[in-house]
Amino acid sequence: MNPIVQEAIRKRNERKAKSKAKAKRLKKIHRLPNLKKKLWSLLSPAVKAVHPKICFTCGKAGTQTGHMFPKGYAQALSAYHPGNLRPQCYHCNINLGGNGAEYSSRYMSQYGLTKFQEMNKLSRTPHKWTVEEMLYLINKIKVGLERYTEAYDELCHDAYNAYQTATFGPGTIQPASPVPTIGDQE
Ligand SMILES: [Zn+2]
Repeated sequence: MNPIVQEAIRKRNERKAKSKAKAKRLKKIHRLPNLKKKLWSLLSPAVKAVHPKICFTCGKAGTQTGHMFPKGYAQALSAYHPGNLRPQCYHCNINLGGNGAEYSSRYMSQYGLTKFQEMNKLSRTPHKWTVEEMLYLINKIKVGLERYTEAYDELCHDAYNAYQTATFGPGTIQPASPVPTIGDQE
């Protein structure tokens, strides 16, 4: 075969292999679990940067970022909300599974019942996160925690209303739960 033709075929095959590998790589990056990991890898340090470096629930050194409402169940709307995240130590976050009772109690006394109820409401709204949402949030956290939080709150608002409508019918937005009339809200 003509060496020029041979070389052209070789180059074409090389290009094909490269673009196939690239497509495979992109597909892998864009898989939902990878995007969730990516978001967490940016969100966790951003949250730790704006809070004292101590465990929210015991006061020891806080090297991890822990959820008040665990993210496990149905990946609810609270899963990536900065309001649901504070620095924690390994013991509270892992051994005590988040130390939720202490977390909630301290959260309410520090931020008030209304803020707690807001997180509680999001934690009880299951959400099927999409690739598009993850890419959107990753772009926002890259800009900064403040912009991310605004975008997240908007997304939550729409998703919460959609869930309520789908579950209880149109025009029936439910309150999260009755606000107990105990204590001080501040
Ligand atoms: Zn702790």
